[in-house]
Amino acid sequence: MNTSRPIRAIIDLAALRHNHAVARRQVGANKLWAVVKANAYGHGLERAVTALAKEADGFALIELERAIALRQSGLTHPFLMLEGFYDANELALFIRHRLIPVVHRPDQVRALLAVDWPADLPVYLKLDSGMHRLGFDTVGVAEAQRALAGRMPLVLMTHFADADGPRGIDWQLERFNAMTPDMNHPRSLGNSAAILRYPDKVGDWARPGIMLYGGSPFAEVTADALDLRPVMTLQSEIIGIQSIGAGESVGYGCTFTADKPMRIGVVACGYADGYPRHAPTGTPVLVDGQRTRTLGRVSMDKLCVDLTHLKVGVGGTAVLWGERLSADEVAIAAGTISYELFCALPPRVAIEVRS
Ligand SMILES: *Cc1c(COP(=O)(O)O)cnc(C)c1O
Repeated sequence: MNTSRPIRAIIDLAALRHNHAVARRQVGANKLWAVVKANAYGHGLERAVTALAKEADGFALIELERAIALRQSGLTHPFLMLEGFYDANELALFIRHRLIPVVHRPDQVRALLAVDWPADLPVYLKLDSGMHRLGFDTVGVAEAQRALAGRMPLVLMTHFADADGPRGIDWQLERFNAMTPDMNHPRSLGNSAAILRYPDKVGDWARPGIMLYGGSPFAEVTADALDLRPVMTLQSEIIGIQSIGAGESVGYGCTFTADKPMRIGVVACGYADGYPRHAPTGTPVLVDGQRTRTLGRVSMDKLCVDLTHLKVGVGGTAVLWGERLSADEVAIAAGTISYELFCALPPRVAIEVRS
């Protein structure tokens, strides 16, 4: 899609492949589920999957209809459905398209036993090792394992709550091990944070997501320092300039008031373009390669930046995040994480692909 409006999301597929190679280097001989849920974290499912088709061991996602469409386009990789199935009547589609379900409830085990499940199509058993979101408890996993072992390959899976934080993962690994005595199945454990921080504890099938897209999973370590490259650059242009005097305010609610004469640039990018409305005055922006800051409230289609000290006119390029301005930094300023910025990219933003 091309649009007359200057806002663009530039998607750098070479960066995506580079970041996948970083995950590969971390996990050594273990395998990788490239996590492409939520439209590949906003980057475009088909283009991400096509870009990684040669190097990925498999793709993990949530959305059944999107997985089926990928299958119908001819992709033969393993697909892991991270939330499994919601209703037993979806199982016929799982079987027909060879989709691997994650199961986490006893009724899902009964549903599997009631269908003609292929003996070579794996099932993932998800354990709750402390995150207390989805997963079997100790009794549940033992029952599920007893019921299904021998009928199909099983993989034991869990998800870490604080792989990026002070608690780390060892406390959950201890519980996981205690819950699975004598269960001799492969394991799928680590997300991006675990892959980068505990590379030898991620199991046979690690599950990198945000790192593939060049986001750092850590608040205190930059993507650069992790050798991750930005895949998405959101950029637009200055479409108006205002010179205002001291005491004048900018934008809705008059939340920013100049204390001296200022030059204000108006960028064609607002919250309807996925820019976070809660980004406060001072959130970094690059204009023609020079760092400056937002001023006042972000509106639906526009935001304002400080050009007082910059020689920039109408048509100047504004990078909101990506190349040379990390999405993590913008996200932190706006009180969120890069995941949310990427996933919020709406259809009205034109995509430009660099391969
Ligand atoms: C989304 C997801 C991941 C990827 O997490 P990142 O922090 O983006 O690496 C891994 N495992 C599961 C179960 C997920 O839902």
